[in-house]
Amino acid sequence: MKLYNTLTKQKEEFKPLEGNEVRIYSCGPTVYGYAHIGNMRTNIFNDIVRKVLKYNGFQVKQVINITDVGHLTDDRDDGEEKMIKTAKAENKTPLEIAEYYTNVFMIDLKKLNIELPELMPKATDHIQEMIDYVVGLVEKGYAYETSDGVYFDVKKFASYGALSNIDLGAQLAGARVDVNEEKRHPADFALWKKAPKEHIMQWTSPWGMGYPGWHIECSAMSLKYLGEVFDIHTGGVDHIPIHHENEIAQSEAYLGKQAVKTWMHGEFLLVNNGKMSKSLGTTFTVSDLEAKGYAPLDYRYFCLNAHYRNKLNFTWESIESAKVSYQRLLEEAAMHKYGTEDLDDDIVANFKNQFDDAVNDDLNIPKALGIVWNAVRYHAKSKKIFAFLLETDRILSIDIQKAEIKKNEDQSNQISDEIKALVEKRQEARKSKDFKASDEIRDKLKKMGVVVEDTKDGINIKLCIR
Ligand code: AMP
Ligand code: ZN
Repeated sequence: MKLYNTLTKQKEEFKPLEGNEVRIYSCGPTVYGYAHIGNMRTNIFNDIVRKVLKYNGFQVKQVINITDVGHLTDDRDDGEEKMIKTAKAENKTPLEIAEYYTNVFMIDLKKLNIELPELMPKATDHIQEMIDYVVGLVEKGYAYETSDGVYFDVKKFASYGALSNIDLGAQLAGARVDVNEEKRHPADFALWKKAPKEHIMQWTSPWGMGYPGWHIECSAMSLKYLGEVFDIHTGGVDHIPIHHENEIAQSEAYLGKQAVKTWMHGEFLLVNNGKMSKSLGTTFTVSDLEAKGYAPLDYRYFCLNAHYRNKLNFTWESIESAKVSYQRLLEEAAMHKYGTEDLDDDIVANFKNQFDDAVNDDLNIPKALGIVWNAVRYHAKSKKIFAFLLETDRILSIDIQKAEIKKNEDQSNQISDEIKALVEKRQEARKSKDFKASDEIRDKLKKMGVVVEDTKDGINIKLCIR
């Protein structure tokens, strides 16, 4: 399988570093507010990465961290600690805030059929690991102490900026006057912040009471759970220029080698072609969609229609058309669930090959979904196709097993006289053992969206609603 690596800027053949196991680190949620559907697009992307790997027979060990401390209102070390800001606003302790929003996040994952990773460590449970890491960086000469914290010295790390092609020299020339004059370079970032007495969350450290910078948690926890070198690191594209550059600098300076082999980034979800905005009221959550009559899986299906490296625009019209299309897919799939026709194995194998090629070409899910549509629309309705659809659902995760033809009772008044006459004619043909005629009528009915099942208690008529 091939994956696009943000670091080398090309698709590469993927092979695990060790044996059959793939170790993945995915930057997780900051739990001081509700996750919006943009965040959830990135979580669906993380889920697709792990599921495509598992589909290919690899064992996956994935870490998704919970950021419950250290994230400032500005990625560049300015502003307040986000968790504390919310705790003050909601009059709760940081622990209560983190617990509440983590629970809501976990519920949303479940609703979207996102599989839980093997590990979900919390930043606040790993303060000591982070301190040890910062001590190591200071000892190796990559970090320095100032009056308000400990900073990473980007000029000491020769390849700083490789992920996003940042030119440090140009940045220095064009930099605004930094609010922090003790920093040696504007791109130097906080590894540890010293806390004033009134700061709610603080821990003892070699630099007095304080709290960690945001970037260090990912380097410390990936080292603890995945080892010095691991296979894949994922996140949203917004993390490329700061958070992930800083993670690379920290890890490589500390370890003396490259920690991550493949960097993967999911593009953004836009709303009405713009950034999601609180002031415009466009930071929708999964619950907001449900309140408007859209199931979480309508949203998952909507996301599957765009490649993860392309932007995706959310509008109420586009989610409505995804919902209609998803329902139709399930209804067509149900025709195969109860299909009775035999099918040449080669036909199903051909669909599977095309599906596998698409998902293994840098997770081309929109193309794979197109193959799924070709299969559901296949004229012969067969359980073999349904088995293939279930196989694809190991990745798509849109509950294809729940596809059902509407129950007879609901439909008795929808069965037209024409259908009834054809069904009767077929019964007569069967009685007189004219199987050719009976098969022809069954095919005709099927083209009209009607499945006739013969059971020991008589016949069963099922309609596929189009
Ligand atoms: P946060 O909780 O803000 O750190 O975000 C969690 C994840 O969601 C990060 O990986 C971000 O890159 C990602 N993210 C934030 N906004 C969007 C968006 N509009 N579309 C897709 N992903 C996003
Ligand atoms: Zn991270």
